[in-house]
Amino acid sequence: SDAGGWVELREPDVAVEEPSGPQPVVAVVGRPNVGKSTLVNRIIGRRQAVVEDVPGVTRDRVPYDAQWNGRAFTVVDTGGWEPDAKDRAAAIAAQAETAVVTADVVLFVVDAMVGSTDVDEAAVKMLRRSAKPVILVANKADNTSIEMEAVSLWSLGLGEPFPVSALHGRGSGDLLDAILAALPEAPAIVENRPRGPRRVALVGRPNVGKSSLLNRFSGEERAVVDSVAGTTVDPVDSLVDIGGQTWQLVDTAGLRKRVGKASGTEYYASLRTAGAIEAAEVAVVLLDSSEPISEQDQRILTMVTEAGRALVIAFNKWDLVDADRRYYLDKEIDRELRRIPWAIRLNLSAMTGRAVDKLAPALNKALASWETRVPTAQLNQWLTALVQATPHPVRGGRAPRILFATQAGVAPPRFVLFTTGPLDAGYQRFVERKLREEFGYEGSPIEISVRPRK
Ligand code: GDP
Ligand code: GDP
Repeated sequence: SDAGGWVELREPDVAVEEPSGPQPVVAVVGRPNVGKSTLVNRIIGRRQAVVEDVPGVTRDRVPYDAQWNGRAFTVVDTGGWEPDAKDRAAAIAAQAETAVVTADVVLFVVDAMVGSTDVDEAAVKMLRRSAKPVILVANKADNTSIEMEAVSLWSLGLGEPFPVSALHGRGSGDLLDAILAALPEAPAIVENRPRGPRRVALVGRPNVGKSSLLNRFSGEERAVVDSVAGTTVDPVDSLVDIGGQTWQLVDTAGLRKRVGKASGTEYYASLRTAGAIEAAEVAVVLLDSSEPISEQDQRILTMVTEAGRALVIAFNKWDLVDADRRYYLDKEIDRELRRIPWAIRLNLSAMTGRAVDKLAPALNKALASWETRVPTAQLNQWLTALVQATPHPVRGGRAPRILFATQAGVAPPRFVLFTTGPLDAGYQRFVERKLREEFGYEGSPIEISVRPRK
């Protein structure tokens, strides 16, 4: 398989719903100059820099992050199309069609000062054929008299017109309420986690040196109350000082009792390891550098990536590594760890203390990657340039297009690509590799799913 190997890669030709669901998409459609861009700016509260026009790149489908009353959604500004298109009605109909396939809700914007036009009616025909909810926005309703005239837009057959003035903000609260009501069920925005100590799992097969490393850190042995969150730390956990910072070490009881050896069954040891990884935010997987990387090591690494946790691999017993062993170890790393090239690696010795001070910076870096959020506009600016430079290969005369992407979540970073069809596995890996090259994510798995819309 591909040398870039992505263990977290999902099946590329299946539309995968993110566990927490991607943000719903609201597309803004309408004739030129009705005020779509102004409305988008109003909705996003001008919190983000608007994407600059890139010469030669059509500025259609530029998405932005928006939120209202604790709900997050993506607004797609279908703004620019060919200003000198010969057949305006056909152009807007085509644009409306694209919006319909990619959106959960469509905002159809008309100019309330002008009233409905032939072009508006052509677009409405298209919109009404879709099952998507359409909200009719009567923009430029700057005053009460225009607002009253907007009532005539009932004739478009899209239901109640929402008079707004995107320029002055009039009516925008009611419009946003209507948008929320039309959105599919979505989770509320998750509040920032309480800033208690970060949770670390120290895992590895028996005898790699877990308890020896633990003994290097000073810890509190009892169950502790986390003063920040006000919650009780699980009694099998303890708070330890690593690099001058307090960390919640998950299942230290298991480490101290040396469960793997004491209970004698690998099965229970492995259950306990899985539980610790699940409870942690970041895992330190200890390997014994003096021995070959084993199947059991691989299983533990897989547990971490499958759980979607940040990962630091510590090559312990580095004091035992001589030039000869180093040569073979490098080869083993190339062969055995190629599916997780993004993991942070440390060469340390619990016995001598070598590089133990590098652990805290590595944990912090992995956690920062794990919680990275790329603003939608920035993500799509990068993606547009990428697919322009390297489009999807043509298969049987057709090539699926990536319409846009959103980051559906963090911890680990999860992305959804909205496309016109399934992507080749190779092309999806390419996008993932480039995403890492651009945004880093050192020490964190990332997930990408594809949502083909037909
Ligand atoms: P788009 O082509 O549909 O994206 O339209 P724009 O957002 O670029 O707006 C076109 C023009 O209409 C600009 O000069 C805006 O300032 C103006 N405009 C937008 N919204 C309003 C509004 O609510 N009231 C008034 N009076 N003008 C508006
Ligand atoms: P655990 O089963 O993973 O908790 O491993 P232990 O901490 O009990 O260590 C197993 C054995 O490896 C003990 O004999 C330790 O003294 C030894 N050991 C642990 N760390 C190091 C190290 O960095 N270098 C060397 N040479 N031996 C180590």
